[in-house]
Amino acid sequence: MANQNGGRAVQPNRILEADVVVIGSGAGGMTAAIVAADAGLKVVVLEKTEYFGGTTARSAGGIDIPCNHHMAELGQTDTRADAELYLRSVAGNYYDEQVVGAFLDNAPEMLSYMERRTEVKTDGMLFPDYEPWQPGAKLGRMVNPLPYDSRKLGKFSAKLRPPLNQLTILKGLQIRTIEVGDFVDVLHTPKSFVQCVKLMAPYFYQKIRYGRGTRLALGNALAGRLLKSCLDRDNIRMIDLAPVQRLIRDGDRVTGVVFNRDGEEWSAVAHRGVVLATGGFSANGEMRAKYLTQAQDGLTLQPPGNDGDGIRMGVAEGGAFVTNNAANGNWAPVSVMVEEDGSRVVYPHFVLDRHSAGTLTVGPDGKRFVNEGQNYQLFCNTMHAREFDRCFIIADHKFVRRSGLGMAPPSPMSLTPYLKRGYLLKARTLADLARKIGVEPLALTETVERFNEYARVGTDPEFHRGDDIYSAALGGGSGPNAALSPIESGPFYALEMRPGDFGSVAGLKINGHGQVVDPNGTAIVGLYAVGTTANSIFGGTYPTGGANIGPAMTFGYIAAKHLADARAPG
Ligand SMILES: Cc1cc2nc3c(=O)[nH]c(=O)nc-3n(C[C@H](O)[C@H](O)[C@H](O)COP(=O)(O)OP(=O)(O)OC[C@H]3O[C@@H](n4cnc5c(N)ncnc54)[C@H](O)[C@@H]3O)c2cc1C
Repeated sequence: MANQNGGRAVQPNRILEADVVVIGSGAGGMTAAIVAADAGLKVVVLEKTEYFGGTTARSAGGIDIPCNHHMAELGQTDTRADAELYLRSVAGNYYDEQVVGAFLDNAPEMLSYMERRTEVKTDGMLFPDYEPWQPGAKLGRMVNPLPYDSRKLGKFSAKLRPPLNQLTILKGLQIRTIEVGDFVDVLHTPKSFVQCVKLMAPYFYQKIRYGRGTRLALGNALAGRLLKSCLDRDNIRMIDLAPVQRLIRDGDRVTGVVFNRDGEEWSAVAHRGVVLATGGFSANGEMRAKYLTQAQDGLTLQPPGNDGDGIRMGVAEGGAFVTNNAANGNWAPVSVMVEEDGSRVVYPHFVLDRHSAGTLTVGPDGKRFVNEGQNYQLFCNTMHAREFDRCFIIADHKFVRRSGLGMAPPSPMSLTPYLKRGYLLKARTLADLARKIGVEPLALTETVERFNEYARVGTDPEFHRGDDIYSAALGGGSGPNAALSPIESGPFYALEMRPGDFGSVAGLKINGHGQVVDPNGTAIVGLYAVGTTANSIFGGTYPTGGANIGPAMTFGYIAAKHLADARAPG
């Protein structure tokens, strides 16, 4: 049984004792464990899979913290009132006074605490809120984890869930989102060339020396930093391959859990309480079919293990499961490449290509249908509303060789494998391309001609792409509108995107302390839910980058504080 004390086995009577039992080792669970341990409580973290880190370790690692201390470093100001105004405007009828209030009251403090007391370190970024036209919108509310060296985890580096390979460079080099531009510009600007060499040289050395790169970035860096912070605390015990099966209840109080280890049943007593931090349920086919109908089967980026166990266990104890959100999932348009062995690689189109000046997106009718530069949630909402099971990014040769498209890399890397597998489609003319993707040729040709006119004058009267600061910032173009550039020099390319998800957000109803509540709003004593086991605090809307991990960590912090204040049963 892996733990920080070097693999010592648990006691033969198969009962563990702790003040707090945390189920799941993502951002929510590990934050709760750290803060509870710092308050002097004895903590056991039980992780179902062979890896610590959950979906968090696969993620982009953005953390939404309104009024965070990095905003001032970037010359930005924020107030609680502005943040509340913005969240009310985005969430509308889904606004939850109590939980969002608790989030706003605690998020900045949580971040400062973690940066002061743990290995978690972040920086700010001038990134806009996702609906910048709403009142109270700001730049800089999302912070990002700083890269981390996995060697600091010692032998536990092999126990950290790996990142998604398709989001790394050169099959394993982890880079930050802000570094992507250097790889695109590597052959075009000396500064980018130097930056890339600085990242690649140690990577190749580490590959030879350790068999893999040791630089962690994005969500992998966050999970690595949280894991190290857990391992550094003597009163946290991390146990992997320990799926929790059910909760133990004594009267009206949850007092522990039953888990499985090596085929045997164990129990862990929780004198103060249990934190459900098992993530979402996107890996559970049955729950997907019921609650995430808009995302296509199998097109999720959540890791195996995220089966909704925490929700099931919470419901069994009387907890309310909320499924009437604006959306029950985090949506992303995804492209799919079928590898030679038949396996599928799913790639999320979060902030690159479809936003870039020099591409447009059409539906199956060959017409544009959306401001392509909108965030993934809104983009997919439109796909769902139009009942599109696919859409296509269209670009010309100049763009694709300069910037790449989806998983297809820019020049000088070859496009051949991507064309061979049908991931990327190429044709000499737009009419030929339309025929290849099953779209009416005239519709596509006219769409591109009209789009090119918009690009030349710098306005998109149909979808207003580039009018808002979000689509303008991600456009990256140099013409009169940063989000629009003409598509004119053949050959032309198309890349199919389908509606996928990167996690579920429907979960257990909680109160402002992170306690699971029943349908009447009464707290179940000793039972907390954090992260995506709890219902989205924004009711399934997506206000800002980091809208999952920010609340996950903040409610981990809030729940741990409440547990520290809670009296142990007599
Ligand atoms: C590609 C990608 C990019 C993303 N980018 C962002 C981003 O930038 N910002 C953002 O806010 N969100 C992002 N997300 C979503 C975000 O990663 C998740 O919502 C968040 O990490 C969930 O954290 P969590 O603590 O709730 O659960 P998780 O990180 O999923 O951890 C849950 C853990 O519980 C374990 N578990 C499950 N059942 C049991 C059981 N019965 N017993 C014991 N353990 C159990 C699981 O194995 C898992 O390790 C992204 C997701 C993906 C896939």
